[in-house]
Amino acid sequence: MQSRILFSSSRQAITVNETSTSDSIAGDGVLSAEQWRAEASRLFGPDPLRWRFVCPSCGHVAAVEDWKNAGAKDTQAAFSCVGRYIGADDSRTFRKEGGPCTYAGGGLIRLNPVAVRHEDGAITHVFAFAGATTAAAA
Ligand SMILES: [Zn+2]
Repeated sequence: MQSRILFSSSRQAITVNETSTSDSIAGDGVLSAEQWRAEASRLFGPDPLRWRFVCPSCGHVAAVEDWKNAGAKDTQAAFSCVGRYIGADDSRTFRKEGGPCTYAGGGLIRLNPVAVRHEDGAITHVFAFAGATTAAAA
């Protein structure tokens, strides 16, 4: 189901088109994969391992590197809470009181707030970038 990939943590750097910025978000609020990568690169630099995301269930902030170190696949980074891969306490799920938790982006309750359209047109909902959501979190 979630086989499409937005980035690879094994790739050292992402090259993005400089003209692609968040100013040009499509009217439906969905970012293209290229726009999403450009925004991530603008916020955190070109190395995907440094990209940081906030879990919509518990508020835990993790970098792609954390998912990788926990043994998760690239498709799970920014999609399911990193806690799933490090034996987190399930009682923290959906409480927004700190984590990590065991939230799964593909589960019954889907909270992932950011819609990204892949090159083939499919849309994946992922975590918000860390630091980009603090104003809207309340
Ligand atoms: Zn979580």
